[in-house]
Amino acid sequence: EGMNAQDLAKILHRSAAEIVKKLFMLGVMVNQNQSLDKDTIEILAADYGIEAKEKVQEDIADLDKFFDDEQKNQEHMVPRPPVVTVMGHVDHGKTTLLDKIRHSHVTAHEAGGITQAIGAYQVRYNDQLITFLDTPGHAAFSEMRARGANITDITVLVVAADDGVMPQTIEAINHAKAAKTPIIVAVNKIDKPGANPDHVTEQLTEYGLVPEDWGGDTIFVKISAKFDKNIDELLDMILLQAEMMELKANPEQRAAGSVVEARLDQGRGPVATLLVQQGTMHVGDPIVVGNTFGRVRTMNNENGRKIKKATPSTPVEITGLNDVPQAGDRFVVFEDEKTARAAGEERAKRAQEEERARTSHVTLDNLFDTMKKGQMKTLPIIIKADVQGSVEALAQSLQKIDVDGVRVDIIHKAVGAISESDVTLAEASNAVIIGFNVRPTPLAKSMADSNNIDIRLHQVIYKAIEEVEDAMKGMLEPEY
Ligand code: GDP
Repeated sequence: EGMNAQDLAKILHRSAAEIVKKLFMLGVMVNQNQSLDKDTIEILAADYGIEAKEKVQEDIADLDKFFDDEQKNQEHMVPRPPVVTVMGHVDHGKTTLLDKIRHSHVTAHEAGGITQAIGAYQVRYNDQLITFLDTPGHAAFSEMRARGANITDITVLVVAADDGVMPQTIEAINHAKAAKTPIIVAVNKIDKPGANPDHVTEQLTEYGLVPEDWGGDTIFVKISAKFDKNIDELLDMILLQAEMMELKANPEQRAAGSVVEARLDQGRGPVATLLVQQGTMHVGDPIVVGNTFGRVRTMNNENGRKIKKATPSTPVEITGLNDVPQAGDRFVVFEDEKTARAAGEERAKRAQEEERARTSHVTLDNLFDTMKKGQMKTLPIIIKADVQGSVEALAQSLQKIDVDGVRVDIIHKAVGAISESDVTLAEASNAVIIGFNVRPTPLAKSMADSNNIDIRLHQVIYKAIEEVEDAMKGMLEPEY
């Protein structure tokens, strides 16, 4: 709301009557309580020899800005534990590995045993902490990234030595690459009679994962998750990789981070697993989480133990929110509950408006306009086709397209139907999916529809290429 003469009087240390009189002389007829427009205030201020500056109000609802600002702030930075996600093809041993690590390196004094799965846990190894996200699968990973949270520092790629590189292995590699996290390869099941770790290594070199003794820089560890072989070596390598990354955070600011999981508990209300990424969180903190808010009523670690504070890279389970947030949502601790509520309500309102406005994902139809606004340097594309030859032919031709310096970036290509994972990857990376002689699965189709992901199906290669090129030139006939 604008200022009135009374407000101005206070700021200028004059009486309200004097201000009203002065305004009258300037040709503005108002009483003391009528609000004034910006121009009038400026003219009046100039008359008093003061420069009227619009007070820039901080947008309290902008959690991302808060987050980015704090990450730029290099003060009080201290080392923090790495956050690790385990990915790989189904049945290659992700769950077995996560369980084994958790049980053999439980954080100190947890003799009571492990009672809960909260989506993340920490282990202490060689006197150093490592945080694992206990949500195997790329869906969780990319869903979070789609919501803006890049919380993984290191990806451990599990590949079974008796099975080799499989479709979800490749997906995992591309998800990790898109998120720009370094990959450590864990070649698993080396105990099995049919195990052929060298073959796995050879296969992975095709995806740019080359071990050091083959002249590359990817860390490979041969393990058996089931029989606990070389798991410590894997942890050593995680710590080594983390050390090279010099991961740091400032524990002295107000806490901020991301939601790992959230659900509604019958007795306790909304329960959320949060990963603290900056600052230190305390019980009682007023907090905004995604589009919801509250006060940290209880805070538990992954063993169900009550804790009072949580430092960077610590996963905690909290209660006290007024609604259930979503995985990947940002959270920020506020100084007081009133502001937290205001920010939370403002965010909820904006989210509703956005939902109504139906945020537009990049599609070939709106591509040209987006390009014109200078918002795109590359067009990310996912290719799925019926045979490998078509995948390659399409990829090569698409990569040659160059319209005004904007190029195609193939972020994933594979043989097979268009899957849910393709759609989440497209959403997280703002990509368009091209299918050649393949179709989306029903679930992928409905996901793509509800998220506005553009899927283009073709039976003729040159038509697919032409369509992309036309879209980039703004020559695409609108589709009805
Ligand atoms: P996920 O789907 O990747 O989480 O795979 P799981 O951890 O569920 O493992 C799938 C199967 O492989 C289970 O039957 C495990 O017991 C088995 N498995 C996992 N790791 C190993 C291993 O190192 N050696 C052998 N022989 N079997 C393993």
